[in-house]
Amino acid sequence: MSKQAGPLNPKTTSYEFSGIPGVLAITFGLPLVCVVLNQMVRVDYHVTGLFSNFDIAELWNHIKPLKWYLTNRELWTYYLTWFGGLALFDVTLPGRNVDGVELRDGTKLRYKINGIALTTTLIAILGIRWQLTKGAMPELQYLYDNQTDLCIITIIFSFLMSFFLYALSFVPLMKKNGKGTKERVLSVSGNSGNIIYDWFIGRELNPRLGPLDLKLFCELRPGLLLWFLINVACLHHHYVQTGELNNAILFVTLAQGFYVFDGVLNEEGCLTMMDITTDGFGYMLAFGDLALVPFTYTLQARYLSVSPITFSRPYLAFLISIMALGYYIFHSSNKQKSDFRQGKLTHLKSIDTKRGTKLLCDGWWGMSQHMNYFGDWLISLSWCLATGFQTPLTYYYSLYFATLLIHRQQRDEHLCKIKYGDDWKKYESAVPYKIVPYVY
Ligand code: NDP
Repeated sequence: MSKQAGPLNPKTTSYEFSGIPGVLAITFGLPLVCVVLNQMVRVDYHVTGLFSNFDIAELWNHIKPLKWYLTNRELWTYYLTWFGGLALFDVTLPGRNVDGVELRDGTKLRYKINGIALTTTLIAILGIRWQLTKGAMPELQYLYDNQTDLCIITIIFSFLMSFFLYALSFVPLMKKNGKGTKERVLSVSGNSGNIIYDWFIGRELNPRLGPLDLKLFCELRPGLLLWFLINVACLHHHYVQTGELNNAILFVTLAQGFYVFDGVLNEEGCLTMMDITTDGFGYMLAFGDLALVPFTYTLQARYLSVSPITFSRPYLAFLISIMALGYYIFHSSNKQKSDFRQGKLTHLKSIDTKRGTKLLCDGWWGMSQHMNYFGDWLISLSWCLATGFQTPLTYYYSLYFATLLIHRQQRDEHLCKIKYGDDWKKYESAVPYKIVPYVY
């Protein structure tokens, strides 16, 4: 194993997100967006035109004081049971152990891959509850009825968790042989020395509590699966209320369920993602994973549960085609890079770099620098199109996701320019488009 020369934890010298003002705006602005979006699509009130009946005072009437949330035993019991139960499954269910990428101290972390066992367990629990409650599923109804309050609980939880993670990053780790302590590996982008910035980006790269890898767990379990469960709660609510299911809500629930479980079951692929290899685990990821994903990505299903749409078969076929095309690009481009990095696909054109790795500039990776992002975005578009054209609100996901992916591409480019130097320039002239061929 090759230990990197220089200090183990280099200082972060440049700020992303426009520095502290940007970080503070995101820290407080995005939770607000999350709550307002949730409130804008309710059974008794939802925005129809271009925010024509938007009434912020009416929305705010439904929000209780902070103390009410902090002391609400019922909401905390529901959320902590969900989070704690999944953590328990994560460490106890059987799985395969695989190594992560090499860290700067020359070591590799071991990860337990048990998405199949977890998925099977969750489906079994849902099936048993369905049988026992004869389809009433009170937990799903609770989730549906208390979505905004639960959203606020997860936002508070993300804050608390990120304070804990920041403090934990200063505690030295015990060495494996039990003799003395060692430095933790910190994120190259979250070690500036500025408390607010490091807390936001995340100071430690891979914080763990015993066998639980907190970052990978939060990335793939409580938020992603809650997204699926909220969609199921919307579908269930709609069915209980009307006795029927429209094809739009069915499409959204099935398509997003497929996407969620594709992520959960391909967890090994996550180990090479920027979130795991580069970003620290702080407020940015904790809030994104735990609150933003489940409570804003569910907007389409929530909307369709209050404004049902039944579209024609050709339109359904059109949506399925966009989703299938997006998924094909997303999946096969990610697989192509992964196979190439494992020494396969040697016939494809690539650039040798001084860093020792090769940059693929053929196949999907010859069309644009991130065809995988384009595929992912097409998938998001198919879900938004399933909500019709009554309000721009349900297109939030595609808009937000485009912003996220463009920003992510720019962050990755910045890091790659540092990592690869002149070789990156060669790569850019071979593959000039960033995400969408001939457009951007
Ligand atoms: P990429 O999979 O594009 O990985 C970028 C990294 O891959 C670079 O830092 C570089 O790392 C390496 N790389 C870049 N270009 C090449 C090349 N031509 N040949 C070989 N290696 C290359 O990005 P992400 O990790 O951000 O995303 C992975 C997937 O996750 C995407 O499909 C994305 O859409 C999805 N995603 C989904 C999100 C969601 O909310 N649904 C959020 C974020 C991502 P190095 O050289 O160091 O190996």
